[in-house]
Amino acid sequence: MGGLIGIARMAAASPLLEAKRRVGYFEIAAQSVINRCSGKRKIFDWTVNPYRGCEYGCQYCYARYTHEFMELPVEEFETRIFVKAWDEGMWRRDLQKVKRGDTVAFGTATDCYQPAERRYGLMRKMLEAMQGATGLRIGITTKSDLVGRDADRLVKLA
Ligand code: SF4
Repeated sequence: MGGLIGIARMAAASPLLEAKRRVGYFEIAAQSVINRCSGKRKIFDWTVNPYRGCEYGCQYCYARYTHEFMELPVEEFETRIFVKAWDEGMWRRDLQKVKRGDTVAFGTATDCYQPAERRYGLMRKMLEAMQGATGLRIGITTKSDLVGRDADRLVKLA
């Protein structure tokens, strides 16, 4: 700190309060992004989760254990985020499985508008590819106001 004065000296002497965690985004292949729900107690017909892991990292999150499916520690649930590789043709083929009147729920395992969505835009791409679809019911689970970005697409779908 020799030679430093004033605010520069204070800055150099400042104790670390907290270092923000680093998040890595990884692309992961997917044969499909839509999953059919079955069983008597099902609420939705289909679920869609474009991301594995969630940067929000809520302590109460019930999806944390899903990182163990990939032989990863649950602690990496919010720092190692997997982005499902986008393939519009695959998504359109997925949609052909959905019948009129079916409910498609986005973000049932992880938040579909988590920060990764701002970078990779999978929700926007999926909603755009759905324009023109009729007779579907759509549900979105998110705590992010990023969903507002896609209001135009949702209005058109409605
Ligand atoms: S926002 Fe949802 S998916 Fe993300 S960590 Fe919290 S509870 Fe889990």
